[in-house]
Amino acid sequence: MCANPNCTRPDLPILIQKTNWCRSCYYKSKKKPGRSTWMQTHPERARELLKKSRRKRRIECPEHVLWVRCKHRARKMGLPFDLSVLDIVIPEYCPIFPYIKLNLTHSKARFDSPSVDQIKPGLGYIKGNVRVISHRANMLKSNMTLDEITYLVLDFTSRAGEYK
Ligand SMILES: [Zn+2]
Repeated sequence: MCANPNCTRPDLPILIQKTNWCRSCYYKSKKKPGRSTWMQTHPERARELLKKSRRKRRIECPEHVLWVRCKHRARKMGLPFDLSVLDIVIPEYCPIFPYIKLNLTHSKARFDSPSVDQIKPGLGYIKGNVRVISHRANMLKSNMTLDEITYLVLDFTSRAGEYK
């Protein structure tokens, strides 16, 4: 249990071995005094700065952003995860839709945002089972079974004449 006498979260496990403090106490101790009041008195400016720093991070280390995202996803779905940031390799173009150039600057996921794909679904985010594809390809992949794709293709090709 947390060694901080002022701890408000005795239910949390210990995060920092050196001090035997929990996560809650650790992050509270890291907070700069005055910062939150400044943010309260300058909400517009604070939001702007946050947006700017997030954009900078997305552009400067998109691999890390993707790594954090799929780590959370793995935990949420109860899937195995053993990736390091170096396992995330972002190609210039989507490997499934080669005409989609991956764009790292969007704040919200769009069709050309990079997205980490499990090559074998359900195996987890583990070394050798991930690649970066476009958000569009990942959405289609995760929402459809091979049967459904086959029927769609059959339908499309049988109506090919109507489209011309
Ligand atoms: Zn604590």
